[in-house]
Amino acid sequence: MECLFCKIINKELSSEIVYENKEIISFKDIHPKAPLHLLILPKKHIPSVNHLEEIDSKLVGNLFLISQKIARKKNLRGYKLVANVGREGGQLIDHLHLHLLGGWKSAKEREVPGMP
Ligand code: AMP
Ligand code: ZN
Repeated sequence: MECLFCKIINKELSSEIVYENKEIISFKDIHPKAPLHLLILPKKHIPSVNHLEEIDSKLVGNLFLISQKIARKKNLRGYKLVANVGREGGQLIDHLHLHLLGGWKSAKEREVPGMP
């Protein structure tokens, strides 16, 4: 399955990668909705949260642990992790990903259009 994010993972498309290990990659969102807006995703092509299976449970745990690690490295005290699911949920790219949004200086500054 060759989706846009698979192309980024395979380095067929360029992106600003901030983290990579053998199963997970993180790169900057091309249209940032926060001072820091990263996407964190498994290299395995899983279309969405709706497609997760029991066998993926460790991978999903690692996705959150890597998100925590990246946030810590970026000195973020607070941040949002968002997974859009399906078109109705605002998902445009059918490769499971977490949005990591942060870098606001105050809670007031935090309003993100189109995000909870
Ligand atoms: P979603 O709506 O949850 O599927 O999010 C898809 C995200 O991918 C959007 O925030 C886009 O701005 C982002 N995006 C689309 N194309 C690229 C790209 N080539 N590199 C980085 N981010 C992208
Ligand atoms: Zn993919």
